[in-house]
Amino acid sequence: MKHLKTFFVTLALCVFGIGVTANAATVVIDPGHGGAGTEGSGAIYAPYVEKALTLDVATKLCDELNASGISTTMTRTSDAAVSLPERANKAKGAGAKLMVSIHFNASGPHDKTGTEVWSSMYGNHYKVGAECGSQILSNISALGLSSKGVKTRSGSQGDYYGVIRYGVSLGVPTIIVEHCFLDNPYDRSILDSKGTAAFAHADAAGIKAFLASGTGQALMNGSLDVSPVAASTAVTATAAGAASSNLRANFTSAEWQWLLSQWAYTGNAEAIMSQVPLADLKSLINEHNKGNI
Ligand SMILES: [Zn+2]
Repeated sequence: MKHLKTFFVTLALCVFGIGVTANAATVVIDPGHGGAGTEGSGAIYAPYVEKALTLDVATKLCDELNASGISTTMTRTSDAAVSLPERANKAKGAGAKLMVSIHFNASGPHDKTGTEVWSSMYGNHYKVGAECGSQILSNISALGLSSKGVKTRSGSQGDYYGVIRYGVSLGVPTIIVEHCFLDNPYDRSILDSKGTAAFAHADAAGIKAFLASGTGQALMNGSLDVSPVAASTAVTATAAGAASSNLRANFTSAEWQWLLSQWAYTGNAEAIMSQVPLADLKSLINEHNKGNI
C-alpha cells in the first residue's frame, strides 16, 4: 500500500512535471513600451500610439503562434510599465528559447522609412537573430516596406539595446522588430491599409519558418550554444583591435574598407566584425564583388 501510494505520488509528479514542460513558453513576445507618460507611450503620431500598437500586434501574433501549436507568453498584457530587466526575467522564467520585442519606429528628422530588426552581436545569439530576423523582414517587406536588414549595435556594456543585452545575459536570444516608421507618410499608408493583423501575421510566419529551420531546430533541442553573454563582456577597443589585425589579413585593403563601411553606423565596426564568422564576411565580400551588394 505504501508502495502504491509512492507510485501514485511519483505518477502525479511526472504528470505535473510533463505539464509544466508542455506549458513552458517557446517564444516570449515583448510588446514594447507601456505605462504612463511619454516614456511609456513610445512614439506618438496620431492616431497611432506605439505602446497600443505593440500590444495589439503582440496579442495577434501570440494567437497565431498558439494556433500553430507554438507556446507563447507576453511580457505585458495590459498598459503596464515593465522594466527591461523585468522583461528579460519573464522570458527566462517562462523557459523561453527566443524573445521577440515588438516596436514601431520614428526618427528625429522624420526622414526615415522601412522595416528593420536589431539583434545581439554575439556568437549564436547573432546567428539566431540574423536568421529569424531575415525571415520576419522578408514577410514585412512583402507588405510593401523596404527592408533595412538585420542590424547590430554595440554600446559600452555590450549590445546597445537593453532588452537585447538583458535577454542574452540570461541566455535568451532576443531581437527587436521595428515594423515601420510611424512618422513617415508612406509607412503609415502601409499600416493604414494592411492593418496590424498583417504585421502580426508577417511576424508569426517568420518565427514559424525560423523555428522549422536547422538553426531553429537546434535552438529548440538545446544543441545550439546560446550561453549567457554577461553584460560586462563589453567589446573593448583593445580586444577588437587585436581580433581585427588577424581578421584584416584575409582581405584586400579595398575589401576591408568596404566591410568597415557596412558597420560604420555602429560606431565600432571592427568590434562588430570580430564577432562575425570569417566565412560570413567572405561571403559578403563575394556578393559585393559580384555587384549584388
Ligand atoms: Zn519602441
